[in-house]
Amino acid sequence: CSSDLIMKDLNGWINEGQIMMAQREKKIKRAKSWKFDTVATHGLYDLQQALSSHSGSIMEPVYMSPAQAYSDCNEMEAALSYQIPTWCYSRIANPSTYFLEETIALLETYGSDIIASGLATSSGMSAIKTATDPFLVKDDKLPPPNIVSCAKVYGGTFQQFWIRRYQEQGIEVRWICDPGNLDEWLSKIDNGTRFVYGEFPSNPSLTIFDIESVAELAHSFSIPLIVDSTCATPAITRPLLFGADIVVHSASKAISSSGTSIAGLIVARKNIISKIGPDEMKADFASWAKLWPFRDNGPSIHPMAAIMTLNDMRSLRMMVDKMSQSALQIAEYLHNHPKIENVSYPGLPSFPQKKLADKYMHLVDSDRSAFGYMMLAEIKEQNPGESINTRNFYDGLDMIWRATDLGRVKTIATLNSISTHQQQGEEGRSLAGINPNAIRISVGIEHPDDIIADLEKGFSKI
Ligand SMILES: *Cc1c(COP(=O)(O)O)cnc(C)c1O
Repeated sequence: CSSDLIMKDLNGWINEGQIMMAQREKKIKRAKSWKFDTVATHGLYDLQQALSSHSGSIMEPVYMSPAQAYSDCNEMEAALSYQIPTWCYSRIANPSTYFLEETIALLETYGSDIIASGLATSSGMSAIKTATDPFLVKDDKLPPPNIVSCAKVYGGTFQQFWIRRYQEQGIEVRWICDPGNLDEWLSKIDNGTRFVYGEFPSNPSLTIFDIESVAELAHSFSIPLIVDSTCATPAITRPLLFGADIVVHSASKAISSSGTSIAGLIVARKNIISKIGPDEMKADFASWAKLWPFRDNGPSIHPMAAIMTLNDMRSLRMMVDKMSQSALQIAEYLHNHPKIENVSYPGLPSFPQKKLADKYMHLVDSDRSAFGYMMLAEIKEQNPGESINTRNFYDGLDMIWRATDLGRVKTIATLNSISTHQQQGEEGRSLAGINPNAIRISVGIEHPDDIIADLEKGFSKI
């Protein structure tokens, strides 16, 4: 046994843990005084931490290790009873993953004094599962659970709610068809509703809703509002500032725009509203989820993926700015094109919810609006329901990738009715508002002239 190891009694380790937590609070306060880009670049990782624990490394190191060793049995006991900050085992937590979680929590609360915690997961889908599961547990004092959600959601989310939750587990899902209509939300929420859910903006149909009013409505029923903010990112919209309780992300998209990994993120404000779950869950949802259900279900992210996601997230604002400016230009070009039936893009004056878009979509730390990188374009067809011209246009694209992806540095076009929304059937597609002539375009960072030239190649095939 090595005698030069630091050994303490249980209280000694707990005291040590409290000192670490106090230092962390100080670092959060410091980061809260910075601008968005500075927070994204540094997070909570500072010189003191680099020198004391990471050989001075100026970049956050990747801890490719499954488990943490402890000095003595007292430290292990304090750690495994969660009485001191610890990471234990990489299914629960990992030092590299913490850097990503701390930074996204700061970015989602940027511009406010809200304190939140983050949790990184293996994918956007696992983030949604981890964020919603804890509200769907049985409670003898309440009616059977139901979910109230916007119908226009990502195809995977539709499948998770409709097939996995409803068809396989009998949890009722009540779809909101017109999320701009508060009366529809009100008519669908009842005592059994455990949370309300929406995407801002929705993928791929780009519908939005009034986060503030829906949060208020949810809270009047003592239930949380959960927002999937993948397509806005905190560089444009931060739903927690408008009353949302939990934000989920597919960090596989614009948050990691250079495209190296699949990753998910959850950010929850402290003291969320919920009529179900233990007090510790409501006090700090993301940290509680990490230590309990996430630990037991196991959708952890690999630390390498966490660091690669963090590396991309540092330039999120610049990327989203560039993509949004190009996307607006391309949306205007498409909108005026004679072979186009319709373009949905929140930056266009023709966007049906333009007022809401103007309220919620701004480039952080600027006085410019930014409406994101994604649009849905419908190609003119001879007869409604056809996709002949659409397919010819799509196959005529040369530089733009045909793929089911978005938020990438490279422009990508997706024919949703045969890809992301193939398995939902006719009814599911009509709920989601996906016509056979709809093409989702996710604008990258190429020069917009080259993107437009490529779209022209597509149009020349019609
Ligand atoms: C892609 C996406 C998801 C799912 O994320 P994965 O990382 O692919 O699991 C969820 N929501 C939205 C809005 C998405 O675009």
